[in-house]
Amino acid sequence: MRDAARRGLSQLVDALTNFLPAALSWLPPVLLAPVIGSFLGVLVLRLPKGRPVVLARSVCDHCGHRLGSRDLIPLLSFALLRGRCRYCGTAIGSFPLTIELAALGVAAWAACTVSSSELWWTCVLGWILLTAAWIDLHTLILPDVLTLPLMLIGLIATAATNPDALLDHALAAALGYLSLAAVAWIYRALRGRDGLGMGDAKLLGAIGAWIGLSELPFALLIAACAGLAAAGAAALAGKRVTPVTAIPFGPFLAVSGWLLWLYGDWINDWLIRSG
Ligand SMILES: [Zn+2]
Repeated sequence: MRDAARRGLSQLVDALTNFLPAALSWLPPVLLAPVIGSFLGVLVLRLPKGRPVVLARSVCDHCGHRLGSRDLIPLLSFALLRGRCRYCGTAIGSFPLTIELAALGVAAWAACTVSSSELWWTCVLGWILLTAAWIDLHTLILPDVLTLPLMLIGLIATAATNPDALLDHALAAALGYLSLAAVAWIYRALRGRDGLGMGDAKLLGAIGAWIGLSELPFALLIAACAGLAAAGAAALAGKRVTPVTAIPFGPFLAVSGWLLWLYGDWINDWLIRSG
């Protein structure tokens, strides 16, 4: 009996000593995620309008009352105030809560998937892609202040985690940008109007900086197939989809880049096996 208790105790100690170092790596990004999500919400609302992002106090959109720090605690404020402004009682909508939960989802997904050395890089990638996709979905704009830093951070992340691949990833960034930019130029020359934004080209370049040359074609392929499927689904659902219907491509590129960063090794293994 005493042996069994001792064995149980030593198993518990083993489990804790295995769990603690792992928890120390994933707890900080997961705990920070709702706070980041709250900031991403500010970016989503203000970047497309060109409003200042930092140093501007948050106010209630309805009554204009300045929001204090206790009104801005991610997740918690929303729950305590039941989604209403403390001052005028107007419902503030589900947007702040949704983007805070989405940022948390990115961190949790990353923590379950990548090694601790890649965890922070993965969270940064996911959070910026989330913001860019959200803005593009609602405004058809992919702000340079998101795509260009994403490209730079992708190269820094490569230099930090896989320095031998830096040249490959830099070429992928250039090729990703130039390929979609060329498509956009050709389309404009033939049709006399814009079919694809330069923001899409910059986003594919940024994704190339993260995933490298061998996975770059798949980023475009997956995004294009998903985009066509979504347009088909919209048409089936009775929405009017014509060749001039504006469909944001950024969200599809973002999802495709995210999946390739997390699971692209499978594609590389498959290419090596079949090549
Ligand atoms: Zn208010």
